[in-house]
Amino acid sequence: MVRTRFAPSPTGYLHIGGARTALYCWLYARKTKGTFILRIEDTDLERSTPESVQAILDGMEWLNLNYDEGPFYQTKHFDRYKEVINQMLEEGKAYRCYCSKERLEKLREEQMANKQKPRYDGFCRHHDTSNKEGPYVVRFKNPEEGVVEFEDLVRGKVVFANAELDDLIIARSDGTPTYNFTVVVDDWDMKITHVIRGDDHINNTPRQINILRALGATPPAYAHVPMILGSDGKRLSKRHGAVSVLQYREEGFLPEALLNYLARLGWSHGDQEIFSIDELIQYFDLHNINRAPAAFNQEKLLWLNQHYMKTGDPLHIAKEFAWHMQKLEIDISEGPSLHDVIKAQAERTKTLKEMAERSRYFYEDVHVTDEMKAHFPTDLVPALTTLRDKLADLSEWSKEKIHETLNQAAESHGLKLGKLAQPVRIALTGGTVSPPIDITMLLIGRDRVVERLNKVMDV
Ligand code: GLU
Repeated sequence: MVRTRFAPSPTGYLHIGGARTALYCWLYARKTKGTFILRIEDTDLERSTPESVQAILDGMEWLNLNYDEGPFYQTKHFDRYKEVINQMLEEGKAYRCYCSKERLEKLREEQMANKQKPRYDGFCRHHDTSNKEGPYVVRFKNPEEGVVEFEDLVRGKVVFANAELDDLIIARSDGTPTYNFTVVVDDWDMKITHVIRGDDHINNTPRQINILRALGATPPAYAHVPMILGSDGKRLSKRHGAVSVLQYREEGFLPEALLNYLARLGWSHGDQEIFSIDELIQYFDLHNINRAPAAFNQEKLLWLNQHYMKTGDPLHIAKEFAWHMQKLEIDISEGPSLHDVIKAQAERTKTLKEMAERSRYFYEDVHVTDEMKAHFPTDLVPALTTLRDKLADLSEWSKEKIHETLNQAAESHGLKLGKLAQPVRIALTGGTVSPPIDITMLLIGRDRVVERLNKVMDV
């Protein structure tokens, strides 16, 4: 049974790279009918914050990446880590190291001067320390010879020489476990079968494998996913704009668009660009993850977003859209259904935020500004009057009838349709861009249309 985990450190928001890792872990578990686990790696007490934990949980929820187990918090497992550390000490798989800061500093300087890679020399491993007192750290007895080899599911065969790895500290002098150690214990206890994570962790992997083996555990399979680059080829960061998942929500993206985009960013299935979640689950495989880093492309994300705004499940989109309307403090309790507004607007907007900003007039009064006045010369009043009266009398408030009425009103005053339609649009929406005028009028509703026409005529 496949068991994957997403193991973020809550030291910031859930960023795009983390979300992609979470998605791959989730997809692989769903594909294999396995189990997806969320584990919050919060042992760095200084850098972890509750806000960041919340941002991760909110981000996962918004993306709809549901977990079967968790969230687990590493800070709640300290007893377990201690137990394993003691067991390793007893079994001689780890040792107490009493080396002073000064000694380690000196060692480091010497190694640097000799152009060697700085690493612990194993002093306390090879000397009897049983009479020692004072503060100590616990180090793992890394094998001194041979290699660590593993078949990375993305990169292929990876080999590290043990001589390159020194004896890792697994417990600090205050007894707290270190990062690489907690990962190992949890992956082991949680029976993780596939570790899918960013390739910035590749150097940790041989160390973790050695510790797992020392514990008598079978290491999981590993898949190290290449990083995401900005458009300038540098590692994606805040400089490139939004990187937090929730910020993408604020900017008006749909979760399915972001998921589709993230899935394709670093993974492919032929030339296909658009994938439903079910298709992703069906086609996703770790072997098809690209080896090369992928560059983030905002234009493509916008394109996908618009695609999903046009074609996605209207109910779900309406829910997201309502969130944006609420943020703009637009009261949607009266007026057209969100669903109809989305249908009318999706053609000309790329994000829900933009859509919301451009949909205020469906729900709120339009104030006649000085700028608008120029569009209503006095000689337009007769045509506007005709239009208003005919609209007020319409037997049926339908797109077709509205369209017909507009045509007739324009014609009867010797105007081209556009000469009447554009001022009407401005009167009704306060701007020059909106969905087709008949649909715009249909959605605004008869009473409000008549009211707004009266208002500009008064001015
Ligand atoms: N906590 C690590 C991070 O946020 C991930 C560790 C792992 O996946 O093994 O980078």
